[in-house]
Amino acid sequence: MRIVVLVKEVPDTFGERKVSLETGLTDREACDPVLDEICERAVEAALTLAGTGEHSVHLMSMSPESAASSIRKGLAMGAESAVHICDPALLGADLSLTAEVLAKAIEKEGFDLVIAGNLSTDGNGGMVPAMIAEWLDRPHLTHLSALEATATTVSGTRAGDDGDSQVTAELPAVVSITEAFPDARFPNFKGIMAAKKKPFGTLTLADLGIDAQDFSIPRAIMTEVAERPPRAAGVKVTDDGTAAAQLADYLAQNKLI
Ligand SMILES: Cc1cc2nc3c(=O)[nH]c(=O)nc-3n(C[C@H](O)[C@H](O)[C@H](O)COP(=O)(O)OP(=O)(O)OC[C@H]3O[C@@H](n4cnc5c(N)ncnc54)[C@H](O)[C@@H]3O)c2cc1C
Repeated sequence: MRIVVLVKEVPDTFGERKVSLETGLTDREACDPVLDEICERAVEAALTLAGTGEHSVHLMSMSPESAASSIRKGLAMGAESAVHICDPALLGADLSLTAEVLAKAIEKEGFDLVIAGNLSTDGNGGMVPAMIAEWLDRPHLTHLSALEATATTVSGTRAGDDGDSQVTAELPAVVSITEAFPDARFPNFKGIMAAKKKPFGTLTLADLGIDAQDFSIPRAIMTEVAERPPRAAGVKVTDDGTAAAQLADYLAQNKLI
């Protein structure tokens, strides 16, 4: 089975994350870029699955040129190859264009199973895997906390408010996983050296036959960007015998009760 893992570089959540007020995009100079932790877990899930049968793991990322070293981390963990979709016209791509680009690249490269994170730590859209499944016209198992596959099906556990559901789909399929999956393995020295020689392809929009300026397909356009206002100081309730009433008033004024 050919497993494609979707990986994305993000600003390290432990550091300062800033939006450039000029471009509206992540200010990559002001942050330490890393492979998103949920994507590392997706690679780990794929490698674990690959260890159970005749499966190969391939990475795919749509990201700026500078993200190549983050993608190589997935190769160092054990994935066989990577495809990096990189094109200046993708700067500021929205969810819709991102999903179209990734879906067309997945189709071009071939797949039996696509594994993605359920939500990135920067864009936070949580929609890309579902949109890709729609483009590919394949089933999508969302928010999985466990994953297994046979030659023809993929199954998993989805945790919900009312309990766990067991879900199954025919392959080829798209799945998205949650942070309930185990931590990713650390690449060892042998893996890091091997990663340098693994196939690392690049694709442009022309290779995929996509026009980023084709607005006949709904795409979001950013018209304005502003910094988040600083958080205002909270209200301090001093208990002079009226604390309960003050608290109730505060909640009522803010439409919380
Ligand atoms: C030149 C360039 C600059 C970019 N700059 C930014 C930026 O400043 N800020 C920003 O948030 N995004 C940026 N992107 C990436 C792209 O715009 C976003 O990935 C996209 O909008 C998805 O949004 P999301 O992270 O909310 O997706 P979500 O739906 O939250 O992502 C869920 C999962 O889908 C998969 N996925 C999502 N996006 C990608 C991707 N691009 N490649 C591979 N797998 C993916 C991952 O497995 C992820 O865990 C840039 C891309 C390029 C090419």
